[in-house]
Amino acid sequence: MTEITKTLCPYCGVGCGLEVSPPAQQGQATHRDAEGTPIWKVKGDRTHPSSQGMVCVKGATITEALDKQRLLYPMMRNSLDAPFERVTWDQALDRIVQEIQQTRAYYGSEALCLYGSGQFMTEDYYVMHKLMRGFLGSNNIDSNSRLCMSSAVTAYAQSLGSDGPPCCYDDLELTDCAFLVGTNAAECHPIIFNRLRKYHRQHRHVKMIVVDPRRTPTAEAADLHLAIRPGTDIDLLNGIAYLLSEWQKVDYAFIDDCVANFPAYAEVIKHYPPDVVARRCNISIEDLETAARYWASSKRVLSLWTMGVNQSSEGTAKARSLINLHLLTGQIGKLGAGPFSLTGQPNAMGGREVGGLAGLLPGYRWVKNPHDRAFVEQFWQLPPGQISPQPGRTAWEMIRGLESGDVRFLWIAATNPAVSLPDLPRTKAALQASPFTVCQDAYYPTETANYAHVLLPAAQWGEKTGTMTNSERVVTLLPAFRNPPGQAKADWEIFAEVGRRLDFSAAFQFRDAAQVFAEFVQMTRDRVCDMSGISHELLKKGAVQWPYSIDRPDASTAKRLYTDHRFPTTDGRARFGAYHSRGVAEPPDDDYPFVLTTGRLYGHWHTQTRTGRIHKLRQMHPRPVLEIHPHDAARLGLRTDDWIEVRSRRGKAKFPITVTSAIVPGTVFVPMHWGALWATEAEANSLTHPISCPESSQPELKACAVQLIPVGAEPMSSVPAAEFVMAEIQI
Ligand code: SF4
Repeated sequence: MTEITKTLCPYCGVGCGLEVSPPAQQGQATHRDAEGTPIWKVKGDRTHPSSQGMVCVKGATITEALDKQRLLYPMMRNSLDAPFERVTWDQALDRIVQEIQQTRAYYGSEALCLYGSGQFMTEDYYVMHKLMRGFLGSNNIDSNSRLCMSSAVTAYAQSLGSDGPPCCYDDLELTDCAFLVGTNAAECHPIIFNRLRKYHRQHRHVKMIVVDPRRTPTAEAADLHLAIRPGTDIDLLNGIAYLLSEWQKVDYAFIDDCVANFPAYAEVIKHYPPDVVARRCNISIEDLETAARYWASSKRVLSLWTMGVNQSSEGTAKARSLINLHLLTGQIGKLGAGPFSLTGQPNAMGGREVGGLAGLLPGYRWVKNPHDRAFVEQFWQLPPGQISPQPGRTAWEMIRGLESGDVRFLWIAATNPAVSLPDLPRTKAALQASPFTVCQDAYYPTETANYAHVLLPAAQWGEKTGTMTNSERVVTLLPAFRNPPGQAKADWEIFAEVGRRLDFSAAFQFRDAAQVFAEFVQMTRDRVCDMSGISHELLKKGAVQWPYSIDRPDASTAKRLYTDHRFPTTDGRARFGAYHSRGVAEPPDDDYPFVLTTGRLYGHWHTQTRTGRIHKLRQMHPRPVLEIHPHDAARLGLRTDDWIEVRSRRGKAKFPITVTSAIVPGTVFVPMHWGALWATEAEANSLTHPISCPESSQPELKACAVQLIPVGAEPMSSVPAAEFVMAEIQI
């Protein structure tokens, strides 16, 4: 008998359907990884609506990490310089409950923080929220989505009234012009990029514009690559708007009917004539005009963006300036058109639905909105006023709270801030000073485990049942197909157990993940993200896109939002955001003359907690490499494979270099995947700064000022550091 489980790839937000089957099936050879270990087989699920059977190397190799360096048992220690000792679940949970109670008694709920993850399933997210925000009364609940797409969330909400992405993947094959800004989709979202590229190749009239300081594989495929100077995105976007206005390519009828704040926007864009924009962006006027002409001559323009826009001190302004172009030309709410934010994480969307950022509440609600708070309090049967009207601490504010002593209890789950947060020297010092930290993860070691007092083993993908929502609002069921190793438990079960031990027993009596999901979707009823008609039972028949209302099943077929050009704002109109460009927060100067930009590689994902344990992917990208333009390399007397020390005002790192004209002069690039576990002194975020977008609190991980110091041959310290961390565990 063939036992195939249909599930979802838990890496990026593309959300590819997978089929997984056991290592050995009757009459067939055992499936093994590169090291000869039997592993579960994976292939693309042809029936999944988002990916149609396609899968990239990360999805194809995912089962190779299921049994590598797993955290099997709860571990505890009294201080960070002591070794971990194995304890029972009772001992670990009792300690956590005791710490929570003492912290609340002495310092109040504001001293509690929980930092979660876009790798959570929706059910994990929901129970975490119910416990922390609801029953413990702390809004200090944030997720690593803060680093990924909180600017997109804020921009959508401010411009369109809601965080619902208006488009769907079918639009990739219906557009006349794809405008990709700050996204290396070919490496980071490869399956949807493949769909777009195939369509682009087959239809000569379709144009592809890529805006990126690097000539990435994505840019290589474009008709027009605008290699703008880092931090000049708003100049470019306003410059395109200027030309569209000059050429009378504005949809005034759409604006009159559907969009507010046009006068303020029109006032701003008149300051962005082509000569000014071309000079600031360091592109030619001809290229700027070509981009604007592609927009002007296309009936359907689809914009795609990710971290290059979002990870910026003006991330919300950038994303809104991009959305402005769609509002200016009426390119929204129709086939093949619209602003489409690609999510970096598998369930970033699910996190948004549940309220995964410090200022959100379940069902696309807001902490600051009294009606939203009242609804949630009533739904969870909490006393009025239990939920604070103040948004909680964001990820970086948690670090600052540790520094000031205001944060006394930190629970980190399914994420690795000791690699992914900015200014790592400061981040690590703050984590080191934490009075009590819980680290809940599937793997050990991780860089963040070094800062934990308690380690909780989490079941991961394939070992727990739950749901995830991808970038195009498609919800997929991910059933468990194997038992968790050791004593690992599902994240939602751990949160529920703590809730029960804290005497909130009645609210956390969930029988299974299906019951958790059934409770959650009731909170989405009549919201933009209405999922009230979706259940685990329904999802067993196949993935479903929201809105999917229990009241209006006809809405279940709405592949796109805002097709009636009514927006979920108080007056039903979208809003122009009028922003001038401010540039990068830390521009280069005489002391730090280069801009460092960071990004991702095809084979790795985030901080390598999973992909670093997969032989094939390590072989694909064995070490981090710094990209530098030939002019800059010549000035420094450097050749490919020479080593360089990179210094910023916060820290330093060392990399071998690749000399390439794929990067603009004055800018260097390093990948962000390497933490202290995988290489010594190669952390991109030891260099980055924490200055954030004032509206989304998303840090500017994409640009900081650095100096480059040639260091000659390969430094001795470039060996991986994993063994040193491993030695500390005692089982
Ligand atoms: Fe997984 Fe993303 Fe690759 Fe699809 S494109 S297989 S979701 S990593």
